[in-house]
Amino acid sequence: MFKYDAALMRWTRFLFAVALLFPLPLAAAQQKVIVLGFDGVDARYTEKWMNEGKLPNLARLRQMGTFRPLRPTIPAQTPVSWSTFSTGIDPGRTGIFDFLRRDPKTYLPLFAAFDETKEPFLLGEKNPVLAAVAVLIVLSLLALIFRRAARVVILAIAVIAAVGAYVNTRRYIPISRPGVINRRQGIPFWEAAANAGKKSTVVHVPVTFPAHDFPAGELLSGLGVPDLSGRIGKPFYFTSELDFHRAGSSNEFSIDVVQLEDNKGVIPTKIQGPPNKLFGNPPYIFIPMTLTVADDRNSVEISVSGQKFSLRPGQWSGWTEFVFPFNPLIKVHGISRFHLISSQPELKLYLSPINFDPRKLPPGFKISAPRAWASELAQVHGLYKTLGWQIDTWAISEGFATEQMFWDDMNWTVTQDRKMFDSFLNNDSDLLVQQFEFPDRVGHVFWRLMDPQHPAYNATLVPQWGDALQRAYQLMDSIVGDAMQAAEKHHAALIVLSDHGFASFRKSVNYNTWLVTNGYLSLKTGVQVRERNVEMLFDQGQFWENVDWSKTRVYAMGLGEVYINLRGREAQGIVQPGEEYDALKRELKQKLVAMVDPETGDHPVRRVLSREEVYRQFDPNMIPDLFVTNNDGYRVSWQTSLGGIPKQLIEPNKQVWSGDHCSVDPEIVKGIFFYNRKLNTDRAPYIADVYPTVLGLLGVKAPYELDGVELR
Ligand SMILES: [Zn+2]
Repeated sequence: MFKYDAALMRWTRFLFAVALLFPLPLAAAQQKVIVLGFDGVDARYTEKWMNEGKLPNLARLRQMGTFRPLRPTIPAQTPVSWSTFSTGIDPGRTGIFDFLRRDPKTYLPLFAAFDETKEPFLLGEKNPVLAAVAVLIVLSLLALIFRRAARVVILAIAVIAAVGAYVNTRRYIPISRPGVINRRQGIPFWEAAANAGKKSTVVHVPVTFPAHDFPAGELLSGLGVPDLSGRIGKPFYFTSELDFHRAGSSNEFSIDVVQLEDNKGVIPTKIQGPPNKLFGNPPYIFIPMTLTVADDRNSVEISVSGQKFSLRPGQWSGWTEFVFPFNPLIKVHGISRFHLISSQPELKLYLSPINFDPRKLPPGFKISAPRAWASELAQVHGLYKTLGWQIDTWAISEGFATEQMFWDDMNWTVTQDRKMFDSFLNNDSDLLVQQFEFPDRVGHVFWRLMDPQHPAYNATLVPQWGDALQRAYQLMDSIVGDAMQAAEKHHAALIVLSDHGFASFRKSVNYNTWLVTNGYLSLKTGVQVRERNVEMLFDQGQFWENVDWSKTRVYAMGLGEVYINLRGREAQGIVQPGEEYDALKRELKQKLVAMVDPETGDHPVRRVLSREEVYRQFDPNMIPDLFVTNNDGYRVSWQTSLGGIPKQLIEPNKQVWSGDHCSVDPEIVKGIFFYNRKLNTDRAPYIADVYPTVLGLLGVKAPYELDGVELR
């Protein structure tokens, strides 16, 4: 008896000692994990403001656990970095290495993350015949219950009705509808967790559209969900100003400017809705709108889609619902908000991009998994923005919106998202992942007011807006406070991270111009080249109209990528694979880094990396040959990203879009990584490390070999 007890004691002590040696894995297998993502939060500014006592919650999280700068992907772009976050694999394997890829057969740009498709609508081509047959069968069966004389009459009616059904189905029911395929490869960690029986709630992670079903939990898609026009986001600006010119506009983002015929009284106008991809004619679906300026001209009444309300200058409307009819049977439902900028002397009315109404989504348009969750969220929390890029950065960038308008829209959006987040923090999920985009959007448009050296620095705006980014980080800090409270309550592991940092975008570098000047890219003479804007991605004709491919060895496209015109890969490739290709890459590496900004003598290019140095695995037909990263202050120009070839090599960036990260060296634009635990490793976290770290906490095995490592 005694002997048995002593043995048991020894065993108990041994097990206890083992448990003390490995406290994490034993405790970890059962706990809740919260992953809170913020887009574009920079490590340097976070650290600075933590040290100044401005971010108390993050400072406390650092003190009790871990804070380290986070290494983003190469390149440090939003869809790229978040795709690697979701899947634990490098961009070479996710296939999301930029927002654009190119078709080597045509040299034309394509979206990297999505492919558009045509899906059959109901039964496609067979719709009219099947409708006619269905009507014929139903009426014939009905005829059987009647006496013979009546039966003949009913059968005659059945034939007529079937012909009618055929004709009307052909007229009103499309045979196909537009569809979207998400091209990102890999299995997101919430799906791996769900396959192991863990329940997840996933909100607004970029490149999760269309929403993919998984066994347990729910997901709401983020960046990638289009607005009703099919764009990343297109606001409207109705104005009575005659011959309206865009003040300081770059024309690179699209705004739908609508000229109003009068500035007083009753003004009829219309709103352009979705492109008519169902029937083709007319090309767009419009709905009428009537604006009535009050007699005292201090307010405007808006009448649209059966709603009527008045706004005073400076006022925002609530959610307004729009119904765009393709025909009497098929309608698309949108929601948006108006803002009256002025009612006199000129009428200026802003309308946010029109979001798909989450309660009435078109068939096949899937922004949540399960599909019904989007609508349930609206019932519980009220209407919300379904658009992936939620906050309007386009109107302020093009001079249509003031700082205050941008800020109001940002706050309003975050309040809505935060309401949902606070409720998810206390749901029964094992894993909660939510991403907030606002720090990135604020960084893009307010950086000019933090950097006196920025060409768009405006001293008069600084007193009110110079601290906008700091205020955005403080807003983030208070959301982190909510998460910390919930983590304590539920004994949850909490990871707070961003996908990349930020830098000042003072100057643009035109790589294609450099390639022309240095004899790598050859132009046909006498060809007029239009200035490019984002709209041309949707309506492409001749993208490279003045390029002579038979004499071109190198071209640049996307945000900082260089392609060799390689024989056997590009349609008109002239560079031989092997030694010629390798030598050309070596030469470009040396020469691009040596490029000099004639104004300052600085080097705009920090590193040129060949794809073999950046990714362990990749598709050689898709992944660019070279990645060019910039030094602080420089970024690849918009024109280069769109295949444009302006005259100047380096241009000052005078635009509101003044902070960026896209082509900046990832060593400069590091993101943040916070964890409510101390780490034993001294590894600098890489964004792909989050995947194995979260699965480790949940006690779930990774489904494949990863490019990140578990942080413990
Ligand atoms: Zn980002």
